[in-house]
Amino acid sequence: MTILEQSRFLATSIPGPRSKELMDRKVAAVSRGIGNTMPVYTARAGGGIVEDVDGNRLIDLGSGIAVTTIGNASPRVVEAVRKQVADFTHTCFMVTPYEEYVAVAEALNRLTPGDFEKRSALFNSGSEAVENAVKIARTYTHKQAVVSFDHAYHGRTNLTMALTAKSMPYKHGFGPFAPEIYRAPLSYPFRDAEFGKEMATDGEVAARRAISVIEKQVGAANLAAVIIEPIQGEGGFIVPADGFLPALLDWCANNDVVFIADEVQTGFARTGAMFACEHEGVVPDLIVTAKGIADGLPLSAVTGRAEIMDAPHVSGLGGTYGGNPVACAAALATIETIESDGLVARAAQIEQVMKDRLHRMQAEDDRIGDVRGRGAMIAMEIVKSGTTEPDGELTGKLAAGCHTAGVIVLTCGTYGNVLRFLPPLSISDDLLIEALDVLALVLADL
Ligand SMILES: *Cc1c(COP(=O)(O)O)cnc(C)c1O
Repeated sequence: MTILEQSRFLATSIPGPRSKELMDRKVAAVSRGIGNTMPVYTARAGGGIVEDVDGNRLIDLGSGIAVTTIGNASPRVVEAVRKQVADFTHTCFMVTPYEEYVAVAEALNRLTPGDFEKRSALFNSGSEAVENAVKIARTYTHKQAVVSFDHAYHGRTNLTMALTAKSMPYKHGFGPFAPEIYRAPLSYPFRDAEFGKEMATDGEVAARRAISVIEKQVGAANLAAVIIEPIQGEGGFIVPADGFLPALLDWCANNDVVFIADEVQTGFARTGAMFACEHEGVVPDLIVTAKGIADGLPLSAVTGRAEIMDAPHVSGLGGTYGGNPVACAAALATIETIESDGLVARAAQIEQVMKDRLHRMQAEDDRIGDVRGRGAMIAMEIVKSGTTEPDGELTGKLAAGCHTAGVIVLTCGTYGNVLRFLPPLSISDDLLIEALDVLALVLADL
């Protein structure tokens, strides 16, 4: 295997002729409902680079949406997958089980916050794991209602569409949605400033606002679970004010409500901690993981307190592919890589490099309303000059400009005005800085 050269290089304009050809075939063969951020087709990827079929090398600030956190086609993962796929590809864990699944469950029980007895269950996608966390919380509490938050994203299946906040493109036209889902206000420091300084900076105040809505509109006696992303992903990389998560957790503990942390995007070293909850010392009852867990192989999990996880009846949970052996082998290699390569610390370094540069850009440009995030999960919120009014149009142009220049960036946020950066932890500082230089040039040109 040749090593992928770690430099940005444009052999053609973006997209090149081979990508254009493939895009024509895609339009004719693939449902229009499946969109693309960039019209380039991938040939290889690794380190901090995605190489396309025309030989263009793009700097990767997306990691396939926070999935290839340890680097694409990471060596230990490639080796582990090769070995496993040659041994056996599938038996179904519910038919004749295998060690790899148990080993992943053991690793998750060890790595997640909380030093009580834990159990895990494995699934395929983040959405599927979120659905199962809700099933588990309902059987444990014998209650039905679930609260999620403004700007939340929990997936695209029926139950998770109901939990997700944003209509277009995730829910529009796809209803009716699952019942007994309620929405509470989030702590969103940048936008809570309009409700006063306390609301924007004191997480306990913001938590009181949320708890009041929950008590009045749902009632703890009906509520099985509260589900929250410790740092919101699709919603705009929103870091709640300090104290918000602990106050919510407290209220849940006192009211027989299961606290579910959706760490699908924030988990596995992404935020400069193994799990984002750790930044606030929050120990969830259940924690949902996926994305970064297996370097791109489809795997997800629910992990949590043994008495909650063991509430469903025997054979109440499962699925044909859940905890597939190849995906499990990839997960074990991913976890080993995070631990032995010190990638949690690497994510914290990336935060410093990115925030330092983005804050300098912000000081010179009042269209950058906010710079936020943790670890290698950093975003900037783009606004109309000197206001807090979202500028989705400029954000789109900024992303497009970066794409044309060979830098993969993603947008997010309820108002489509957040540019988000999710570099793989295997990216070099040089590539990271070059990508930010490109971003600064594109912004200055607009
Ligand atoms: C991506 C994501 C999901 C859904 O995961 P899928 O694997 O796409 O089903 C759920 N929650 C969060 C926070 C996510 O970022």
